Amino acid sequence: MTLPRVQILALGGTIATAPDASGAMQMGLGADDLVAAVPLLATLADIRAETVSRVGSHSLSFDQIHALAAKIMDLDVDGVVVTQGTDTLEETSFLLDLLVERDIPVIVTAAMRNPALTSPDGPGNLLAAVRVACDPWMKAHAKALGVVAVMLDEVYAAADVQKVHPTRFNAFASPQTGPLAALVEDRLVPLSLPVRAPVEAARKRLGKASEGREQPVALLWLGLDEPGYILEAMIDHRDQLGYRGVVLGAMGGGHVPERVASLVGQLGEIIPTVVAPRAGGGPLLRQTYGGPSSEIALRKAGLLWGGRLNPLKARVLLETCLRAGLDRAAIAEVFETFG
Ligand code: ASP
Repeated sequence: MTLPRVQILALGGTIATAPDASGAMQMGLGADDLVAAVPLLATLADIRAETVSRVGSHSLSFDQIHALAAKIMDLDVDGVVVTQGTDTLEETSFLLDLLVERDIPVIVTAAMRNPALTSPDGPGNLLAAVRVACDPWMKAHAKALGVVAVMLDEVYAAADVQKVHPTRFNAFASPQTGPLAALVEDRLVPLSLPVRAPVEAARKRLGKASEGREQPVALLWLGLDEPGYILEAMIDHRDQLGYRGVVLGAMGGGHVPERVASLVGQLGEIIPTVVAPRAGGGPLLRQTYGGPSSEIALRKAGLLWGGRLNPLKARVLLETCLRAGLDRAAIAEVFETFG
């Protein structure tokens, strides 16, 4: 029987750390080391392993993920597993989902517990990811599922997955939708299919993104009684600061403190500014509340509406839209399709 060809692409992260002389965990392991730690892999798939980088995911760049997406587009294999750090997995997997169009499973996995600890989760997550990559339901639905994350035997859609805890073992979830599938024994049990129309629609318009240059997008979280000094600085010193877009982590269904409402409106006039839910995701309101700091007023003032994407994913999408050279109207349309 020929085994499916699965390509492992290792970027770094806790899953690939090793202790230095002081006991501190440093980036060290490559793709071959990760594969060697899980002998069972060879019984499931014809594994090919490549070390792409050895960096913590907190230091990955948009450019690196664009290059990774291009590599994945060119691979002649039956499935791809990317291993990386957990810190930005929710952003990198979503960016890959926006960029990669393949009809094979593309999976991102990582580890919370490093290899020097008792019960590290890296080997189990890698094994689960390869199992998922070889699963018939995954193969049959690969296009419809897009890029997925596999952590602790659960499969999550890239557009929805979040790191919901900084340190605990079970740090990943899709709070809005739940997992797409779960591994039980050696079977993948499908639970749901993701809503993909917005990602597909976005991808069609983002075709040229990988040819574009970095487009820095600021992420501003709005808290109780925010006085707006950062907003003022962004309005007054826009050119010196160099940001090309802004994502606001806004309150509730799309609200900002009244004392900054007019600053937010001014910012939205001079730079593409997306309102996204600081509550972590879920569609925003469009037409319920009145008053100067409500969703109705902010939408009228020209703020772009983030829909169901959490602020981190909205930032990834805005950066990618700007790289692709989309104008404000086109960016607004891309975001509107996300609900
Ligand atoms: N800082 C690490 C990283 O994201 C944490 C991890 O892998 O869990 O690379």
